[in-house]
Amino acid sequence: MADIIWNPWHGCEKFSEGCQNCYVYRRDESIGKDASAVYKTKQFDLPQRRDRAGLYKIKAGTHVFACMTSDFFLPAADDWRQDAWDCIRRRPDLHFSIITKRVARCVDCLPSDWRSGWPQVTLICTIENQRQCDIRLPVFAALPAVHKEIICEPLLTDIDFPQPLLDGVEKITAGGESGPDARVCDYNWVLHLRRQCEKAGVAFSFKQTGARFLKDGKCYAIPREKQHIQAKKAGIDLYFY
Ligand code: SF4
Repeated sequence: MADIIWNPWHGCEKFSEGCQNCYVYRRDESIGKDASAVYKTKQFDLPQRRDRAGLYKIKAGTHVFACMTSDFFLPAADDWRQDAWDCIRRRPDLHFSIITKRVARCVDCLPSDWRSGWPQVTLICTIENQRQCDIRLPVFAALPAVHKEIICEPLLTDIDFPQPLLDGVEKITAGGESGPDARVCDYNWVLHLRRQCEKAGVAFSFKQTGARFLKDGKCYAIPREKQHIQAKKAGIDLYFY
């Protein structure tokens, strides 16, 4: 399945501990842009666009990562979200991953015909530390969705997931923080997440080490281009078929 990114709007408001070194802010600052100014992008209706032959520009079977330079459930996007849901509703032949820290807003922002969820949508909750696990996981567990995942990135503390609340979660992804001010990611936290996934029958992926990676009591500075490679070298991903 091919992957693409669809950013119907751009910009965000910092919301929790994981946002401290947000890559959208870093990237925008580097080009003199204000990431807190939220605007609808030119690709707002991308999933609906067709070529001259009348065929969809995004081909069937494509995996679409939505809102990667914002948060789909951002309050500033309330006026645009229903139109974005329309784009998603009309494309059951694609798969959309929607990542959010604002799970508390989801239930009021879902479309009226969402019912138990749409098969073409995976809702993904970001949980960066134990505090946010305690706040977000009970809310996320109660949300109706056909597909659910959790992303612990940047992973900032050890996290104990209450096992019953992982019911229905298909995958947990872990990763460290990148950038010059990256906070440390401890490999023991990653391994602890993996053990919890194994026990719960949830798939697990160690996506990247981050820029400051603590292993066996030693903190390593990992260059950006090696962060994914080093994580994959650990060989600790888990799949359940
Ligand atoms: S929610 Fe995501 S995009 Fe928004 S400020 Fe936080 S890290 Fe950045």
